Amino acid sequence: MKLSALTAYLESLAPLNYQEDYDNSGLIVGNPEQEVSHALISLDCTEAVVDEAIATGCQVIISHHPIVFKGLKKFNGKTYVERVVEKAIRKGIAIYAIHTNLDSIMTGVNARICETLGLKNSRILLPKHNLIKKLVTYVPLNHADTVRDALFAAGAGTIGNYSEVSFNAEGTGTFKGNDAATPYVGEIGKRHKEDEIRIETVYPANLESKILMALILAHPYEEVAYDLYNLTNQHQQVGSGMIGELELPLNEESFLFHVKDKMRTHVIRHTKLLGKHVKKVAVCGGSGGFLLKHAIAAGADVFITADYKYHEFFDAEGKIVIADIGHFESEQFTQQLLYEIIRKKFPIFAVRLTEVNTNPVKYFI
Ligand SMILES: [Zn+2]
Repeated sequence: MKLSALTAYLESLAPLNYQEDYDNSGLIVGNPEQEVSHALISLDCTEAVVDEAIATGCQVIISHHPIVFKGLKKFNGKTYVERVVEKAIRKGIAIYAIHTNLDSIMTGVNARICETLGLKNSRILLPKHNLIKKLVTYVPLNHADTVRDALFAAGAGTIGNYSEVSFNAEGTGTFKGNDAATPYVGEIGKRHKEDEIRIETVYPANLESKILMALILAHPYEEVAYDLYNLTNQHQQVGSGMIGELELPLNEESFLFHVKDKMRTHVIRHTKLLGKHVKKVAVCGGSGGFLLKHAIAAGADVFITADYKYHEFFDAEGKIVIADIGHFESEQFTQQLLYEIIRKKFPIFAVRLTEVNTNPVKYFI
């Protein structure tokens, strides 16, 4: 299939506008029109992973971490980033990153950590803003159903577990076309009154052009009247970190043993144990320190994440146990997650997991 079919599917699950500002998720190397039959999945796109893609006939590498985060100014093979990009281009291998946008969804990186730890009622710890917008349009009565159907089919009107959500109010619209107009109803040069329905519905910002296209095609007027509103509401299904509960509370030592076992980590760096039972657990794969105050506010007993620095451990303040399990360890199941996501949609497309352990951190035990 075309590479664009694969990336469009991944972006329908984890849209690119869900990524953080510093991130660089998306197609980093490659042509969307190129044909692909084999994909290699990795957490990091290192030189060894590119070599593996070449050796195994994979035309695309799907990695969690983007190989390029900042602008590259030279391509002379001095850094591993330049060498990876150069080699991928030379060999016609595409590189696609699905990073903080995959972290942000309800079925993403953090959901997989929650499942692995057996947490229930998992929800987003810090929901994102500015992802939902509102559309208001004015439609003649006899076209209201058609327009509403078209908007819903394009992805408008979904809130949590509800779809086809809209508000409808009847009123009267007026308009007067000039000589160049070809109005759907009414006479040129005369004010026309029409019974209309004001349809209001919300939609995900990333689907805006698709939804406007559907509106314009379904609406009978030459000039479609519509308003777009930015909403500051949180999107409860999209955001950073997750929090969930253990079915049965465990004491702190037993819980840390459980984490060590399930997350296959050699060592856990943690703050002072508080002598309490662990019931609520906050998680964030990778560098999650920015979520600490949200984990405390949400009443988490333990916060599982990675990349904690010495001074940041003091911020626990006896209110929570911070457990740093290692960046790679926290995200290692993401490879399997991506594998399952792709296989479910494209059962005959060949997907393989990298055999390279890309963790740059080694433990001297
Ligand atoms: Zn990461």
